[in-house]
Amino acid sequence: MELRTDSLDFSMPLSGSGPRSASKTLVFPRAVRSVAAGLTGHTIGYSGNDHHVGRLEVRLDTTQLNNTVTVTGTFGLRDWSGSWDDQYDGSIEFAVVAELESATAPPPRADLAVADIELNQAVQFFRSASFLDPINALPDNSIFLIARKSTGVRVYVDWDSSAGLPPISSLTGELVVRTGTTTVTLSPINPGGVIAPKRAININQALANDTLNFMIPAVWCAGTVEISCDVFDQAAPNSRSGTFARTLVFVPVEPLQLFLVGVALATPVVAPAATQAAISTALSPLVKTYPRGDIVQTGFTAINFAGNLIACPTSGCGSGFHDLLDQLKDLRGGSGDIYFGGLPPGVFIPSGGCVIGCSPTGDGVAAAFIDVPLTIPHEVGHALGRKHDPCTGCSPAAQNPDSNYPQYGNFPSDSIGVFGFDPVTNTIFNPASTLDFMTAFLVVPTPPGFGWVSPYTYRGLLGAQVGGGVPGGPAPCTRANARRNTLFLGMEIRRDRTVAIRPSFHYDAPLQGSTKCGSGFSIEFQDESRDVLDCSPLHCLCTGNGCNCWPKVIRDALPMPGGARWVVIWEGEKKIHEEAISKAPTVKIKGAEPREDGLLLEWNADPAEKTWYLVQWFDEKSGVFRGLAPRTQDAQMPIPKRLFTHGEELRVRVLATQGIATGHAERIIKLPNYQPPEPVVGLTGILETADGPQKISAVLEVSVHDTAGRQVPTDRVISYIDGVEVARGNQVDLRALHEGKHVLRIVVRGLGGRTAVRSWLIERTRQGFFLHHAICEPDRRYEKEKHVHPHPAPKAC
Ligand SMILES: [Zn+2]
Repeated sequence: MELRTDSLDFSMPLSGSGPRSASKTLVFPRAVRSVAAGLTGHTIGYSGNDHHVGRLEVRLDTTQLNNTVTVTGTFGLRDWSGSWDDQYDGSIEFAVVAELESATAPPPRADLAVADIELNQAVQFFRSASFLDPINALPDNSIFLIARKSTGVRVYVDWDSSAGLPPISSLTGELVVRTGTTTVTLSPINPGGVIAPKRAININQALANDTLNFMIPAVWCAGTVEISCDVFDQAAPNSRSGTFARTLVFVPVEPLQLFLVGVALATPVVAPAATQAAISTALSPLVKTYPRGDIVQTGFTAINFAGNLIACPTSGCGSGFHDLLDQLKDLRGGSGDIYFGGLPPGVFIPSGGCVIGCSPTGDGVAAAFIDVPLTIPHEVGHALGRKHDPCTGCSPAAQNPDSNYPQYGNFPSDSIGVFGFDPVTNTIFNPASTLDFMTAFLVVPTPPGFGWVSPYTYRGLLGAQVGGGVPGGPAPCTRANARRNTLFLGMEIRRDRTVAIRPSFHYDAPLQGSTKCGSGFSIEFQDESRDVLDCSPLHCLCTGNGCNCWPKVIRDALPMPGGARWVVIWEGEKKIHEEAISKAPTVKIKGAEPREDGLLLEWNADPAEKTWYLVQWFDEKSGVFRGLAPRTQDAQMPIPKRLFTHGEELRVRVLATQGIATGHAERIIKLPNYQPPEPVVGLTGILETADGPQKISAVLEVSVHDTAGRQVPTDRVISYIDGVEVARGNQVDLRALHEGKHVLRIVVRGLGGRTAVRSWLIERTRQGFFLHHAICEPDRRYEKEKHVHPHPAPKAC
């Protein structure tokens, strides 16, 4: 152990930016095994001036390379104004404690060696040539690692019991993870943290506890990370194997953005809408199997749906689901997010329907019953353009199959092909019995281990975006994030070629793309003098038989050309329909009256009875208008308080249509003196309303939401158990906890200057992990512009 002290100098008064940083490199005589830097003192102040202290930031990070350690200090001071407009200066004094490679370490145990390491974030190729055909087998660990996704590490240990050394009954080990900022030592996640050792050639990949397994929490899975592993007899921890080291590189990928909608049903039974917490819990299989680091909930709302979703149609999802998806599209507005309608639990299974969920391929909306867990990754997969696995030889055949899906070796059709791994539960998914979740036939209720993800689907979902593919024809080179006036056209073409246009709205939206089925029909927009302004092919919804059945149901998003007066529908070269685009209905917002839970927005109804309205609110954080509710013929709508996450103002607009031409009115509405409450810290998978202890997962997922349901980044979450820091980031692994009751406290720093805190009483017993109740916190709201004191009154919890 070596100890050094030094300091970082910030004596030059600076303003205009912050926090500032400075670094210093220390050189040690031998390679550094692990290192930590600590603050021994600091001075900080405004340079010759007096202000409030609004935010003070002093932080140390270390990076190590061989025998050197670089300490970087972050240093900032500002007042409540929120900007770095005042000069500040100071210094940071620090101490570095470094553990160096031993000059006289005992030699490694001769009978024990780490043979290899499998890195598995959901699915991975490992020794695949031993069970797959040459076309499908790939080198070990060839699926690259995704940043901010928790990583399973399976350590294959070779033990030679014939070497004459003392026998080992309980093999354990340590995985040391060194990131740019810290060193973490992880214990195995196998039951009791141990396995029975064996020869490497006798290890059965299908058995979770034939390998020593670890989970690197998502927060440490970023950039370049060094891992090293020692294994040893639990009874003799000083006599270890040689160290197996590897450098991991994590690749950042775009987050997946989901807006959740709880859907209340009236038929066949009355069922209330699922809460955001319940839908978040049901998202777990999606979070585990999708190749994404961040799966961000951009919001939550609830709707009442009057139609019946329980049906057994020969093809497609049935009219109930199509109506529901139309409502979700109204809500989606101009956003590029996936809108997921979570259908209430306890309805599908007893009612014996056939369709557990529905999503037209590549359309950005999906709905599924949340008590059938695999339907969510499946339907969201459709929303991202994935088709069904082929189910070769099945009767009935899979609808809308993907003919490129691989036949993995001798495994059944739709098999996941290689071994999957869930490090949260230490579960292996065996390709001999596990199907890919894009299989057309999910068994309900789903037996454990039935479904997971194949390398093919995993790769397909990587970077997949809503409507990402635009098939056919030379495409113009278009700006990827372009927005344009888009007509969300709904239409039905009957066998006798009569055409009915559903009231359709046009408004600013990002490019929608299309991966739908071609219909043989096209639409043409003409101006007053019947000159063609634009034309587009029309597409059918591909759910079910797509364009094989009548009537053709068309839902297309098309650029709406300015000055269009006529719309003409063509079947090949034959004109089958034309109609004039009437004048857009006028709409005028009358006002927004205060109500108990927000405001009531009212507008002047167009005298025409057939006018439909769509009310949208502007989501400042995403920079898009979202639908407040599905379309309506009323001339008023309540605006709930919870959407005011930015203060007392909210931008809303009312769109009005009778066919195609859309009128609109926009207004900023106000809730005077309204201050949005702090974001709420929660744990995914727990019932806030439960009485008495409830069973919880061994790895808890922390989530922080504002009142509109938007998840706040959880990078700066720190979890403490009984006062000791146990985790950073949004996962808390309880597997190292001893039996008994404990206090879990979660602190989320830096939410626009605020800190959110919550505590719970939890317990580990022989039966698993339990949560008893939340523990009350004092009110932390600060009085604005006064002295900073936590409010003394206790808060109900
Ligand atoms: Zn499907």
